[in-house]
Amino acid sequence: MARALADKGWQVDVCDQATSPAAGASGVPIGVLSCHVSVDDNPLSQLTRAGMDRVRAFAQAHLVKGQDWLDCGVLERRLDGHTKKKKWQPVESDSVWHGWVQTPTRLQLAQAGLSEHSADEQLWQAHGAWVKPLALIEAQLNHACIHVQRGQALKATEIQALGYPAVVLALGAHTSDFLAELSDAPTLPLLPVAGQISWGLHDAEQAKLFPPFAVNGFGGFVSHVPTPQGLAWYSGATFHRGQAQAEVTVQDHAENFLKLQQLLPQAAQALQTQWRTPNQLQGWSGVRCTSVNRMPVARALDTFKLPDWYVLTALGSRGLTLAMECAQRLALVIDQRLMD
Ligand SMILES: Cc1cc2nc3c(=O)[nH]c(=O)nc-3n(C[C@H](O)[C@H](O)[C@H](O)COP(=O)(O)OP(=O)(O)OC[C@H]3O[C@@H](n4cnc5c(N)ncnc54)[C@H](O)[C@@H]3O)c2cc1C
Repeated sequence: MARALADKGWQVDVCDQATSPAAGASGVPIGVLSCHVSVDDNPLSQLTRAGMDRVRAFAQAHLVKGQDWLDCGVLERRLDGHTKKKKWQPVESDSVWHGWVQTPTRLQLAQAGLSEHSADEQLWQAHGAWVKPLALIEAQLNHACIHVQRGQALKATEIQALGYPAVVLALGAHTSDFLAELSDAPTLPLLPVAGQISWGLHDAEQAKLFPPFAVNGFGGFVSHVPTPQGLAWYSGATFHRGQAQAEVTVQDHAENFLKLQQLLPQAAQALQTQWRTPNQLQGWSGVRCTSVNRMPVARALDTFKLPDWYVLTALGSRGLTLAMECAQRLALVIDQRLMD
């Protein structure tokens, strides 16, 4: 949000209660960029495609490919754990999905350790990528018009007193608690969803059993990711709807493993021993903010009671794909309002 406004020439103060960047849900060590596929090309699908274009263009210009992000493509398995999703028909050249979604090749299936007979259960998203959120956020905040103040938990009443011409609440799962401090604040249909990622390091031998691209569809899996400790794999995540506390648990590690066994049996087998060895298995957990209709909330908060206050939240499980595009759209609205 700050970057979108700064790119329009506004001076932006970012006040974050955390003492380091990429706190909150954005602290997830890796994020997969993929579009939401729907047969009727619903609004979320359209938004995710626009979001991917935007974040990929930013990554191309400001991040180190192979280190901070990689446009490796995403194999989407059409599983929900119990039933197979509807078969995806190959896309025609005049379809909105052309270039975005196709049937995977034999080689891609083989690299994932999957049978070619299951080809119609999978989609290949050629624009898919992984990104390290910390690198993305640091690059976005690196702008002469952005001034960051950390370690400062703001209260709604304090912000009102500061008299900014525009205020954007981008507080993720904290948005509702923050607004609750105001006597007649609008209530937003938001729901916290805690989740955990399992991850570890892998060697070159294991790497041969992992696909060189990201996989999602029932949890996700990304490997070959360079970190200061060596190459890393990431698997998950879990979903605890209504839970606002983030903690790494043994149960969630077990759930992530069960999902991986369905998603990529070959990779799961290669990691079986490591998964059982506590000091070789790492975890990260955070709390997403979702909305009732699964769409992000990016709009004026309440033009009557709180004029000049805006909100950008409910980015759900696709915040890294959606945040820049939603911010850009909201920045247009704010820019216009401030120029009037
Ligand atoms: C386990 C897990 C896996 C995920 N995987 C993916 C993925 O693969 N791909 C993807 O696109 N997305 C993924 N996401 C979702 C993505 O991480 C989020 O949608 C996104 O990071 C949300 O960003 P945000 O800025 O809205 O909220 P947050 O990142 O939570 O940021 C909120 C900020 O508000 C600050 N704050 C809160 N209260 C106050 C206050 N009173 N005063 C000042 N500052 C305050 C916090 O310190 C924090 O910095 C995942 C999320 C989780 C939890």
